[in-house]
Amino acid sequence: MSDAFSRLRAWFRAALLDSAHIQPEATAESIRRFRIFMTLGILANIAYLSYFWWLAPAAATPLQQRYGNTIGLIHAVNAAGLVVCWLCCHHLLRKAAMPPVQARLLQVLIAAWVMAFGISLSVADQWVGSNTTNYVMLSLIVAMLALLRPVAAALLFAVAYLALYHAMTLTQNDKAMLDMARSHSFTGTVMSLVASVVMWRQYVSAALLRRQLTESNASLEKKQEELSYLATHDALTGLRNRRAFLLEAEHELNRALRYPSETGILIADLDHFKRVNDRYGHPAGDAVLRHFADLLKAQLRDSDIAARLGGEEFIVLLPGTGTAGTAVVAEKIRRAIEAAPVAHADQHIAITVSIGVSSLPAHDNSAIDTLYGRADQALYAAKAEGRNRVVHAEAAPSHPASA
Ligand code: GH3
Ligand code: MG
Ligand code: MG
Repeated sequence: MSDAFSRLRAWFRAALLDSAHIQPEATAESIRRFRIFMTLGILANIAYLSYFWWLAPAAATPLQQRYGNTIGLIHAVNAAGLVVCWLCCHHLLRKAAMPPVQARLLQVLIAAWVMAFGISLSVADQWVGSNTTNYVMLSLIVAMLALLRPVAAALLFAVAYLALYHAMTLTQNDKAMLDMARSHSFTGTVMSLVASVVMWRQYVSAALLRRQLTESNASLEKKQEELSYLATHDALTGLRNRRAFLLEAEHELNRALRYPSETGILIADLDHFKRVNDRYGHPAGDAVLRHFADLLKAQLRDSDIAARLGGEEFIVLLPGTGTAGTAVVAEKIRRAIEAAPVAHADQHIAITVSIGVSSLPAHDNSAIDTLYGRADQALYAAKAEGRNRVVHAEAAPSHPASA
């Protein structure tokens, strides 16, 4: 029993929390709905007041006369009120962020105004019958449009019903008719309250679902970005991987053909890197690789495309850079790594690099493979000539394997 009670209490608390979260967005939605409803309402009011004041057949009795005039007047007052409310809604809806207190006040005010309109019509209707359809209809409209939290809705409908209950005594003299009108309007009030609670719960669950969907979409997009980064970058150095490099290089060479310009390439391979691992351990080797990648990033332009080919081999494409320019950049990199031993765990690891360089003149439509092959051959020559040097492809002897 106490278990069921605490579950109910937990559900109630969660519902209250959800309601509080959703309230501002529900208020904005109800103001949007009200603006549409009021546009139609104002037109209907004008049509009705025109009928009752000017178009209806001449009244046969003073009661009919009073009834027609009063109904026309109620529509006229309502139209004026709706115009003011419409302007307030329009003003709030045009703001980038709706002020919550003003919006909530307006929402409740319009709901109360529409209920008061229904009450006035039904009270006047009691002169000529026991009909409370106007009150019931307008209560249902409020239930559909207002998106009020259940407690606020219960309060509004209770006050409206009590007002109608007492006000009808002013116009209804027949006790049986009064009882009938009171019982019908009571049923209408309860129906409207139930409809209002259902509408509210539905809106809250839809809004919560929408929020969940937005959140999971955002986290999916983030994961997709991470995945695409992992698919195109080397995890250790943060440089592009071979696949991404080849794609971008191909694209760059096509551009160099379309807007003719030279393109340089260099392949760098750390010298005797195996010894670094053997002597200082793999973590030290990793630190050296990261250090070299950082040095590359620092020495290159943003438009250059640098990647780790694998192991201790790196490649760079230099768009718009010819033979001499590429050789200068390569020499700068070679000197920089030679001059700055890598600091790792209180040790200074001296490193050198061999670099093979090649370039493609403007209008040359060779593929990236050709350029890559030539630079690789130059690198092979740099190793063969004693390492720690830059060799240009045109100056390099043919690679035995590719000759
Ligand atoms: P050379 O001067 O002829 O280039 O000799 P080298 O020792 O640099 O070349 P070799 O190909 O013999 O050795 C490359 C070494 O790079 C072997 C491998 O263990 C190491 N290596 C490859 N990838 C990584 C890595 O991600 N981290 C570390 N620490 N070492 C790596
Ligand atoms: Mg190597
Ligand atoms: Mg090496």
